Amino acid sequence: MAIIASNFKTNHTRKSTASFIKEVDEFIVSNKIESEVIVFPTATSFDFIKTQSNLKIGAQNAYPIENGSFTGEIGTQQLDEFNIRTILIGHSERRHILNESQATIAKKYEFYKALGYKIIYCVGEPLEVKQSGLEKTLEYVYSQFDGIDINYENLILAYEPVWAIGTGVTATNDDIEAVHGAIKKRINKPLLYGGSVKVDNVREICSIESVDGALIGTASWVADDFKQILENT
Ligand code: 13P
Repeated sequence: MAIIASNFKTNHTRKSTASFIKEVDEFIVSNKIESEVIVFPTATSFDFIKTQSNLKIGAQNAYPIENGSFTGEIGTQQLDEFNIRTILIGHSERRHILNESQATIAKKYEFYKALGYKIIYCVGEPLEVKQSGLEKTLEYVYSQFDGIDINYENLILAYEPVWAIGTGVTATNDDIEAVHGAIKKRINKPLLYGGSVKVDNVREICSIESVDGALIGTASWVADDFKQILENT
């Protein structure tokens, strides 16, 4: 059974999120989709989502706190209102655009782990590291596990090479196999691939032995496309 996750990033309104969720939720039932489906909408939409019985809603980000003075952030007091128990941690955009350090990420991980959240933990190398070879790539990726308890029972991993995110350039099956295979040898957890996964490549990517599903941005934002992705996995 695959795990298929949609990361909305900074896209969709409350209204379009609600209709997306409703449509996908119904599709899962009518087409007997067996994959575990997780959607990460923007936090502003949480209160607008009506039905979600067949998929999980997760937070793209939250601060490691219940509540307090952390301008612009949300904590578990806000997540609890919507029964959100799933969170994305270590996404490349938070690492590289929003400058979250490994120490900050590890702190966040520890906090949400202690509360029993399902954590989708992301790792992945930038282009210059990829260009310096597999050994350097693995070294870089392993360093993104510093301070992370890899034995946590509610942990799902996602390998998302930075150069493949939002670029239309998907990693080759060989690239994916090499990195996934190496990670899997060290860490026995479900491992998703992310980075330009689309309707027409999702089946092939998910058929790689060391791939347990996909974490998808761009190609998952239109409900019809996401439904096709679910059908293809
Ligand atoms: P794209 O599917 O747009 O490449 O984004 C991947 C991603 O960052 C999912 O978290």
